[in-house]
This record gives sequence, structure tokens and C-alpha cells, in this order.
Amino acid sequence: MRLTALSLRRFRNLASQDLAIPREGLALVGENAQGKSNFLEAIYYLETLRSFRGARDDQLVGFDEDVFRVVGTLAEETGTREVAAAYQRTGRKKKVTIDGEEPDRLTDAIGHVAAVLFSPADVAIVSEGPAERRRFLDIVLSLNVDGYVEALAEYRHVLGQRNAALKAPRPNRTVRVWNDLLVEAGATLMHARRSWVESRAEGFSRYYADVSGGQAAAQSYRPNVQIDQASDVGEVGDAFRAALEEAESSDLRLRTTTVGPHRDEVRFHLDGERELDVREYGSGGQRRTVALALRLLEADTIRDARGHEPIVLMDDVFAELDEGRSERIMELIDRDDAGQVILTAPKESDVKLRTDVLPRWSIAAGRIDA
Ligand code: ATP
Ligand code: MG
Repeated sequence: MRLTALSLRRFRNLASQDLAIPREGLALVGENAQGKSNFLEAIYYLETLRSFRGARDDQLVGFDEDVFRVVGTLAEETGTREVAAAYQRTGRKKKVTIDGEEPDRLTDAIGHVAAVLFSPADVAIVSEGPAERRRFLDIVLSLNVDGYVEALAEYRHVLGQRNAALKAPRPNRTVRVWNDLLVEAGATLMHARRSWVESRAEGFSRYYADVSGGQAAAQSYRPNVQIDQASDVGEVGDAFRAALEEAESSDLRLRTTTVGPHRDEVRFHLDGERELDVREYGSGGQRRTVALALRLLEADTIRDARGHEPIVLMDDVFAELDEGRSERIMELIDRDDAGQVILTAPKESDVKLRTDVLPRWSIAAGRIDA
């Protein structure tokens, strides 16, 4: 898939511009705070309908403005598609259209761009708490696995209801009524998470070895509910139900739901005798390499689920890697069949990918010079 045109209106500090995006992609070069990350944020917004940096929609509207609008034209083998997103600050209204039509639900509007974004901030997936790793899984699976995003919304809703029931003055009777719904949605999440982590485990180790120059690492799913013996989603649900029933008295005492996929974890460990957890023992470079491997797996997931090459967005990712690592990551991304690449760098010399073919664009104070 390729982005052929991008129209920006009052998004962050970016000038309102209509840009034709080159077939092979581009390298956007500019000093700090000129709008490079904002540019990628605008493109990636069309895929997820939110900021990859976790900013609220109202923060994306240009200062002293009321509405931002971003429109992207995507080309694939079967034709073109136009994805438009707008947000109004005063009315707190988001509007999304795909080829001019407003989808029934916002969840139908995500995942139309097939982009993967590499950012130095990705290291948080490895370094920070388990919530970051669940968030990563939830985003990848929501965008690429049918039914996941609905199950996630349902799980969060039911969990909220159950926790509210646990906090009520006399909770015993009302708590159980939520168990069926919680089990159904939760089993879908656990089953999909396990399938993804396990089916991608080999790819993870391969990417980690490729980027690190031969070092070994592995990923594994550590569900909060023991589901080793459960083979299908029904059995995962049975295990979850049993765990919920067993935990009921402690849930009542602690007034919150203590078991379930909201407490899942994914572990990354350096292989070797000691199986060191990367989060606890990994160096900065090792953590970054795990994060890169995860984004490469995300690109594979998009390729497998949607049947086309993802657009690769890279926000100043070479800055933090040693020469060997950045060279090897380039080789991985820059394979013959590789798709469009849109990357940013503070200096010309930091552009290390497809140096001969990527057109150079520059940006200063939000204005792009193509
Ligand atoms: P760096 O190389 O340091 O990462 P960058 O080019 O990626 O820099 P951006 O993160 O894109 O820079 O941000 C550029 C500027 O955008 C910042 O100075 C910030 O103040 C400004 N900015 C952020 N949000 C808004 C907004 N809603 N309206 C106007 N300007 C904004
Ligand atoms: Mg930046």
C-alpha cells in the first residue's frame, strides 16, 4: 500500500498544505521542534484515529484553531481509497470518512492505511510496566484480528461494571451476574494474545538475532490466568471462569477483579543459561532492539492479515542505534519487495535508508518544502 497524497489542515504546528507523496517514500529532514514527528503523527492518525504519542485529540488541533483535518489518498493494487479524519475542539467531535462515507462505528474506521510506525519512544514497551505491553498487543490485534477490538471494548465495559459491583455496599449477589460476559470477552482476548505471541515467537528471535548481530532472545506470553491446558477459546473461557470463581472471595475482600487478561504480561528474555528479563537486565541497546523486533513483527502481521506491504514510518530511529544495528535494520526493511518508506531525521547524514532513492524533503517551523 502507498500513500499518494496528503492534505493537512491546522494539525499541530504543521502548515496547511496539500502534498503529493513520492512513490518510494521520502526522507523529511529538519531541526528539532520543526514538526517532523507531527508529520508522521498526522499520517498514522489515519490508521488508528489517535495520536501515536498518546496525545488527546484536542492537543492535535493547531494552537488558536478549532478544527484539524487530515486527508490521505492510498493506492493499492485494487484501486485507491481516501481516508479523511477531522476533529473539532469546541464540539469535541471526531469525524472520519472512508471514500466519503462515514462508517457506522468508529471501530470500522481504523486499520485502513496499513502503516507501521517505528519511534524511539517504542522502548517504553519494553522498559515500562506490563500495561505498556498489553497496549502494544491490543493495538496490533485490534488492527489486524477480526473481532478483537469489539471484545476489548466489551471486556473493559464489563470489567468496569463488575468492579463497580464489587465496590457497592453489599456486593455478593450482583458480582456474579457479570461473570459470563467477562469470561466470553476475556477468553477472546487471551486466546488471540496467546496465538499472536506464540506464532510470532520464532520471528521475534530471528529479528532480534538479525538486528543484534547474532544474539539470542525470546518472547513469551504470561497470562494472568493459567491456560496451558486450554487448546481452544472455549477451554480458555473455562479456565478463566474457574479462576474467577476461585478468586471470588479475595475479589470481594479487595473490592476489585483480581484475575483476568487485564493483568496479563508479555516477557522478553535474553536467551542463555540465565534467561535474563530484558526489562530488568537489558542494556539500552538491547531494549531498543526488542522494540524494533516487535515493530518488524507488526509489519509481518499487517502483511499477513491484510495482504499488502505496509507503509513504513520511521521517526528518527537511527539516532539511537550503533552502526552495526542500524545497518542491519536497514537491510531488513529495505528488502527488494519493501514498500513505501517515510522517515524523518534531524540531519541529512542521519538518513541511512535508501539514501540514493528517497527524495529529500525539508521542514522548518511546520512548513514542508517538497
Ligand atoms: P525533534 O527533532 O525534537 O523530535 P520534531 O521536528 O519531531 O522535533 P515535533 O514533535 O513534530 O518536532 O513538534 C514540533 C513543534 O510542534 C513543537 O515545538 C510544539 O510546540 C509544536 N506543537 C505541538 N502541538 C501543537 C499544536 N497543537 N499547535 C501548534 N504547535 C504545536
Ligand atoms: Mg520528533
